[in-house]
Amino acid sequence: MTKSCRIGPAGFPLQGPHGASAMEYLRKIGLDAMEYQAVRSIRIGRKPASEIGSAASENGILLTLHGPYAINLSSNKKIIRKQSIQRVLKSAEIASWMGAFHLTFHPGYYSGFPKELAMQIQKESLKTVLDKIEERKIRVELGPETTGKPNQFGSLEELIELSTYFDGVRLTLDFAHIHARTGGFIKSRGDYEKILDTVEKSLGSEGMKNLVVHFSEVETTSKGVGERKHHPLGSGYGPDFKKLAEIIVEKGYSFIIVCESPLLEIDALKMKRILNRIK
Ligand SMILES: [Zn+2]
Repeated sequence: MTKSCRIGPAGFPLQGPHGASAMEYLRKIGLDAMEYQAVRSIRIGRKPASEIGSAASENGILLTLHGPYAINLSSNKKIIRKQSIQRVLKSAEIASWMGAFHLTFHPGYYSGFPKELAMQIQKESLKTVLDKIEERKIRVELGPETTGKPNQFGSLEELIELSTYFDGVRLTLDFAHIHARTGGFIKSRGDYEKILDTVEKSLGSEGMKNLVVHFSEVETTSKGVGERKHHPLGSGYGPDFKKLAEIIVEKGYSFIIVCESPLLEIDALKMKRILNRIK
């Protein structure tokens, strides 16, 4: 397999310890990344956060952090935008305590705005976040994530625009969400290639290095468009990881692959085996 990809679960392991000792467990089972989930609460203190960070670096685990779901940087309510900016900032601070290099978050909703206006407001909010981060000397990449529902801001094109517009912003590429948002677009290898080529054309080959990629199989809503539920690998729902793995190996991409299947580390290991089998 491509030695340069890292793989890990979206959260502490199901079958292992939580907190700092999870890092040794992940290394022992053969994984080398983890996304810390601050999706509901961002109350972890500096001490436990830095303990997780030290354990991660001792065990060669690269950390990313997922910020709270309750973020809407393009809300039509000023107070919500302000709170959302605060939440991104707080998450960035925790990420820096942990030594997590990348902060994933769902950027928000169109909130009744035309898409161009939502984009403008996203840019204003992100500018505020980036200024504050710089002021506080926090070093973390902001990673707005491609979203799974059509009413959410965060199409591939929108996030590429934000990634090229700002230094310090680089999208989180969630294939399950792109698949669901587009009504099951990813079927063939070519469909994956189209997505990756689009990203590479804008970010350049340097921008593909350590790109944070989320993967899970996903069920769409009964209307066929929009994310309903994540499923384990091999569930029969798309998209197919094998086809993505082939392209990753062929192109030698060095992605950080975060497994968002309900089977977390178990499926992360499955992904690793799939990548290893391709030569
Ligand atoms: Zn995701």
